[in-house]
Amino acid sequence: MRWFGWSALSALALSGCDLGVEDERVGGIDNIRLINAGDDPANWITHGGTYSEQRFSPLDQVNRDNVGELGLAWFADMDTARGQEATPLVMDGKLYVTSAWSKVFAFDAATGEPLWSYDPQVPGETGVKACCDVVNRGLAAWGENLFLGTLDGRLIALDRDTGEVAWEKVTVDQSQSYTVTGAPRVIDGKVLIGNGGAEFGVRGYIAAYDALDGEELWRFYTVPGEPDEKDPEYLKAAAETWNGDFWKLGGGGTVWDSMAYDPELDLLYIGVGNGSPWNRAYRSPGGGDNLYLSSIVAIRPETGEYVWHYQTTPGETWDYTATQHIVLADIEIDGRERQVLMQAPKNGFFYVLDRATGEFISAEPYIPLNWATGVDDDGRPIENPETRIDQTGEPALVMPGPLGGHNWHPMAYHPGENLVYIPAFEAAMLYVPQANWKPDPARGFNIGFDMGAGDLPPDLGFRQEVGATVKGRLLAWDPVNQEARWTVEHPGAWNGGLLATGGGLVFQGTQEASFNAYDASNGERLWSFDAQTGVVAPPIAYTVNGEQYVAVLAGWGGALALASDGGIIAKDGAVRNISRLLVFKLGSTAQLPPAPELAKAPLDPPPSRADAATIEVGRAAYARYCSVCHAPGAVGSTVLPDLRRSGALENRMAWQQIVHDGALSGNGMASFEGSLSPEQIEAIRAYVIKRANEDKAMEAELAKQRVARR
Ligand code: CA
Repeated sequence: MRWFGWSALSALALSGCDLGVEDERVGGIDNIRLINAGDDPANWITHGGTYSEQRFSPLDQVNRDNVGELGLAWFADMDTARGQEATPLVMDGKLYVTSAWSKVFAFDAATGEPLWSYDPQVPGETGVKACCDVVNRGLAAWGENLFLGTLDGRLIALDRDTGEVAWEKVTVDQSQSYTVTGAPRVIDGKVLIGNGGAEFGVRGYIAAYDALDGEELWRFYTVPGEPDEKDPEYLKAAAETWNGDFWKLGGGGTVWDSMAYDPELDLLYIGVGNGSPWNRAYRSPGGGDNLYLSSIVAIRPETGEYVWHYQTTPGETWDYTATQHIVLADIEIDGRERQVLMQAPKNGFFYVLDRATGEFISAEPYIPLNWATGVDDDGRPIENPETRIDQTGEPALVMPGPLGGHNWHPMAYHPGENLVYIPAFEAAMLYVPQANWKPDPARGFNIGFDMGAGDLPPDLGFRQEVGATVKGRLLAWDPVNQEARWTVEHPGAWNGGLLATGGGLVFQGTQEASFNAYDASNGERLWSFDAQTGVVAPPIAYTVNGEQYVAVLAGWGGALALASDGGIIAKDGAVRNISRLLVFKLGSTAQLPPAPELAKAPLDPPPSRADAATIEVGRAAYARYCSVCHAPGAVGSTVLPDLRRSGALENRMAWQQIVHDGALSGNGMASFEGSLSPEQIEAIRAYVIKRANEDKAMEAELAKQRVARR
């Protein structure tokens, strides 16, 4: 961490303390510890490893030469079977990790002995406010406490030794569809946390809370509200770029994941999300850039004062968030050492910015895309007019689709190789404007596009063809020349977060249930472990008593997992969720229990008797209210109940009791009363019955294909 040079030294001089790399004890976390986290690779004390969020561990005990001897040291099963996205923290030989439903677990980092656990008791019905599974991405540390953001919008301080609650603060209006899934960060005793909900009509912000008692110190809104003379200048400037009564729809711009901090410049960087609703024609009639959607914004952490912004996607309409992982590094460009900020946001361009000023340096596509032909010298994308579908007219097939060229999965930066490793993703979507869209702030996807209009027809060959176009790859990106130095093509699409190490390795999990180590210089796979489940969370490294460990949280889930077929066309076979923390060390030989079979009973739906008009009502309602959790087209994921196989499918009463009356709300299936009429709910049942019958026929055809292949 070259750029921490003087501040690290002066911080040490001021404190008169010696960090002592040999000493694995950290004690209370303070500014000195956090600013110098890169000099203390024994511990992992902040989300991205350091404030620069490079996710680079200098540890080299596990390296290119011996990684073949890496084995399972211990593992711990989680008590939920939902998406696992957390980065653990390690301090003083203890490992702290969060799991689905915002739960926290503490372990002895060397032996795996459970120390304590904490369940914030998030109400089950909060699940329907979450766009992308009931995930949590991790904790922050300050003093003797850990800080947890919960799905229902609370910020909770926990005693690191006992897991006892020190204080608790509600950070959102819980009557709206805000959720918190991101990891907090702490700067100088201020706990920073944003929120999500831009598919559900919220107004995004990030806020700072006093680490001692949870008092809110400042709040930074990313999009303008109803214009007010007292608004700060940056929001008045933003309001000029919006049209109509935009504030009535929330606007979006949620800060649900990325943050980074440069202590020398004293700038906090946040990534801002998509517009709410997505369709700009509804959100800001007549157009406009809609600041600060899809932007990187630099903020003064002491006051929450705006400093600069860079907007990646002006007039965002495709769910192109810039909430993706932000990495800070000092790199030489055109013979000059530049303090840069790097991001691969959803829109498919890799950006290099000057992080002191926000000046645009360069941007090139890191995956195939069609919404723009490039980025001009001023840093503004050159848009393809055929993909600007916000005028409620013609649909357009746009690349990337709403899952982006890169989603939340963290990148890693290796300073020795000067490479950024990107978990990249390739999938287009047909954007079909929804005619006469009206907001429903209570429930459902509020995006102004018809999420079901692009459903694939029940044609096995066609589905297999489309499935083959969805791709995932690990890219080793040269940020100076803006090109891939090497690429690993993965069989599955949704590949995991990354860790780079001083041992010349890059660690990554995959959709197809493996956890791998690659040579950081050329991408050669040097080691692989059968994780039995998709691994999407990013790994970390640490030491206890001088021995290096690598830890990763396994467990298939998140946005793509909920959207994908868990049966018929699932490329490379369906992956089931086994939520489990995996910890590795050289020479260890622990074994996982045998993997249970992923067995789905053959489809056996009642006959489809409803008329076409009813089924169309059901299709449209399903697309808006059900598809985000139960998969578009009701194709059935492996994470949440496959409605085609629901026992309630043939029972009108039972179906109403669940969907209308909320009989299963404790499990996360909230009541849709008020958003859906009993008639619409019955029409959804008719639609799912029709889909189940279509897929039953496809299953039979697929079985024939398999026999023929044998
Ligand atoms: Ca979004």
